[in-house]
Amino acid sequence: MSIFTNRIEREARTVEVMIQLYCKNQHGLTVQDCPNCSELQNYALDRLNHCPFHEGKTSCKNCPIHCYKPGIKDDIKQVMRYSGPRMMLRHPILTVFHFIDNTRKEPLTVLGQNRVKNLDLAEDCNGPVD
Ligand code: SF4
Repeated sequence: MSIFTNRIEREARTVEVMIQLYCKNQHGLTVQDCPNCSELQNYALDRLNHCPFHEGKTSCKNCPIHCYKPGIKDDIKQVMRYSGPRMMLRHPILTVFHFIDNTRKEPLTVLGQNRVKNLDLAEDCNGPVD
């Protein structure tokens, strides 16, 4: 698998670099040395790995479930707001993919062929998690 063919892997790499950038510039730390950013990164990667839409997912901001718990959702939004505009120069390939991936406005089925008709298909997801 690679970031070119696997959306989950690509989004995982994107969120990692965005949190790294945020932590370096805002906290003066690496993520490994920052308890808050480590926790945020682990949480985001865990959510991605349990995303019920798999490769058919939308961007999380367009998701009908919004599986992040409220406090963490605010934290990740803060990271996105800071790192998003700084990504193009540092990670142009991920940034281009991010724009392309954002064009999907509704999740697809696991096979990526049909639009999800109801959220029962999201049975893997327990909604916001602690
Ligand atoms: S369920 Fe929605 S918010 Fe959660 S990881 Fe999947 S796309 Fe993102």
